[in-house]
Amino acid sequence: MSQSLRLDRLRTFVERIAALLDDAVPEAYLLETGGAYLRELIACDDWLPDAFARVDADHYQQYLLHADSRQRFSVVSFVWGPGQSTPIHDHTVWGLIGVLRGAELVQSYAQNGGGTLLAEQSVKRLETGAVDAVSPDIGDIHRVSNAFHDRASISIHVYGANIGAISRSVYLPDGGRKTFISGYANAVLPNIWNVSKEGVLL
Ligand code: FE
Repeated sequence: MSQSLRLDRLRTFVERIAALLDDAVPEAYLLETGGAYLRELIACDDWLPDAFARVDADHYQQYLLHADSRQRFSVVSFVWGPGQSTPIHDHTVWGLIGVLRGAELVQSYAQNGGGTLLAEQSVKRLETGAVDAVSPDIGDIHRVSNAFHDRASISIHVYGANIGAISRSVYLPDGGRKTFISGYANAVLPNIWNVSKEGVLL
């Protein structure tokens, strides 16, 4: 890992999200302000260690970058190889998605009273630097795909829980749904606390 990586950017983001949650702000404010913090984080691509940007040939990857000590939130890097896509899924908690590299396509779905999924008319294209939000209140079901078929895309997500441990749903083409717990691809996290190396005095 290069010494020049700006992991302080990730630490600052984590500190800011924790402060918002300490203040118990309403969700709309949290998504708007947290979204602005995420936009700032992804405006610079000089902090994500390569180990958390690794493509898998078969499946998109989900690397945990940080989990809050009370599991109030988690920060994750999602890495899509060329043409890779999630299934249609929900989150059950608030979430923010910010594109760090490449571009992503988001197809959102609403659910009618009978539980049938209705695809929103337009597919959203998120370019590098763009931020999107989900939550059970504003719309929680979507499918995300790499917009590119010849290169990887990476987005940074923050969720209102330890997302890899949450039981949630995948929506199947036959109209059924399946419970899943995503977990994470990594066993080791980036060290955002090596502040003496940055010359930060406490
Ligand atoms: Fe999602």
